[in-house]
Amino acid sequence: MKVLFVASECTPFIKTGGLADVIGSLPKYLQDLGVDVRVIMPKYSGIDFSLTGYPQWQKSIHISMEWRKQFCGIETLEYKNLIFYFVDNKYYFDRPGLYGYYDDGERFAYFSKAVVDILPHIGFKPDIIHCHDWHSAMVPVLIDGRRGDDFYKDIKTVYTIHNLKFQGIFPKEVLSLMELDDSYFKFDKLEYHNNINFMKGGIIYSNCVSTVSPTYVEEIKTPFFGEGLEEILKFHQSKLRGILNGLDYEEYNPSTDSNLYVKYSLKSLGGKTRNKKMLQKELALVEDKNVPLIAIISRLTEQKGFYLIKEVLDEILQMNIQMVVLGVGDKEFEDMFIHAEQRYPDKLRVLLKFDEGLARKIYGGSDLFLMPSLFEPCGLSQLIALRYGSLPLVRETGGLKDTVVPYNQFTGEGNGFSFTNYNAHDMLFTLKWAIDIFYNDKKAWRQLQKNAMETDNSWKKSAQEYLKLYEEVKGY
Ligand code: ADP
Repeated sequence: MKVLFVASECTPFIKTGGLADVIGSLPKYLQDLGVDVRVIMPKYSGIDFSLTGYPQWQKSIHISMEWRKQFCGIETLEYKNLIFYFVDNKYYFDRPGLYGYYDDGERFAYFSKAVVDILPHIGFKPDIIHCHDWHSAMVPVLIDGRRGDDFYKDIKTVYTIHNLKFQGIFPKEVLSLMELDDSYFKFDKLEYHNNINFMKGGIIYSNCVSTVSPTYVEEIKTPFFGEGLEEILKFHQSKLRGILNGLDYEEYNPSTDSNLYVKYSLKSLGGKTRNKKMLQKELALVEDKNVPLIAIISRLTEQKGFYLIKEVLDEILQMNIQMVVLGVGDKEFEDMFIHAEQRYPDKLRVLLKFDEGLARKIYGGSDLFLMPSLFEPCGLSQLIALRYGSLPLVRETGGLKDTVVPYNQFTGEGNGFSFTNYNAHDMLFTLKWAIDIFYNDKKAWRQLQKNAMETDNSWKKSAQEYLKLYEEVKGY
């Protein structure tokens, strides 16, 4: 089985969110199951190859985009036994950051076309091309258009939606850049409110569509979660699957993580307490292991439930707690936290940046991890929190519902806390309950931590589900 992953980000090269974690870990686990899997992604100037080794130039070709021919360098890197292909074009990818440019439609149209055109040149013909999110959603469309060509006719496509919110919607002109004719500009094809919708193309033209948790796959067929694509998803539901994301258990492991102040495991939880104290010190909070430290590590957007937090932030900070927020995002929420920090300087620390090392220290040093998302396709942060024994407090939606088992005080079951309604006071009530257990029932807290750290969210099971899916799709 040969599989080519197509994605716009991948750890350890470059990351803006959970997508990069998935692309940086699932292939390793598929490889363990005997799959020959490789990854192709853009060669952004922001990638620091000094940490991984530099890719080797393999070949240059030209990508025809309407009347223009764009340079495409194909570079290859073997990293930890996996082969990565990098698409090199300085005009499109030599820029700070990854997304948010006026010509993102053109940049990722180029990337998708380059992926398809490169295939005959790399000596690797995949059985399955596995595309991820809107950035590579046009690949299945382009492959479908080449079914007449012997090389492409048997290649099957799988398309995974990591977040339905970001669909890649661009003016119609982007079609001709990919040399697709106007027949694609129809309601049952790529047209969407008089524009082109990349994700819609991925859904319609791939052989199978998956998303990243069993609950989210049901939710997205409803108007509340469907982001305008619910009817298309319902129409194609026979090819829809929900496979839960796993976590890279080698990468995220408190007993080997050198980002931590002190490494620890379930058997040496004293190490977690030492992390907490050192984190408190670094954040200039009172060093006290007996005060619960609540963590938020997140993009600061509505999706992550920040309107709920806004509603009751003062009430939260009036409790006997400490809180640390690490994140970047909407100014509204950045300001909200900065102002709250001014009101509660001895309780709240706000760090408006993206910092992987600090994130690990916070997972390691905190007691509770707050993630009350409005919607959550899967969510990796709560999986990391579980692994580091920071109990997640989540809203029961998408992957949060599938991975966090709420504490049951009668049976002792559970690995965190959860509430159902998108309601700030339901969240606050649950948080107060959690804090009460922290202070008054140390035994229950310790048991919850044990359950959390013993939860198996590794890729093993899900990688097998993907392999089963590939085998099914290969037979189509
Ligand atoms: P999403 O992909 O929707 O942003 P996930 O929970 O799936 O959310 O994944 C987020 C990933 O990004 C996690 O690994 C989390 O630790 C990390 N992350 C989010 N914000 C930051 C930040 N400011 N600094 C470091 N890591 C962050």
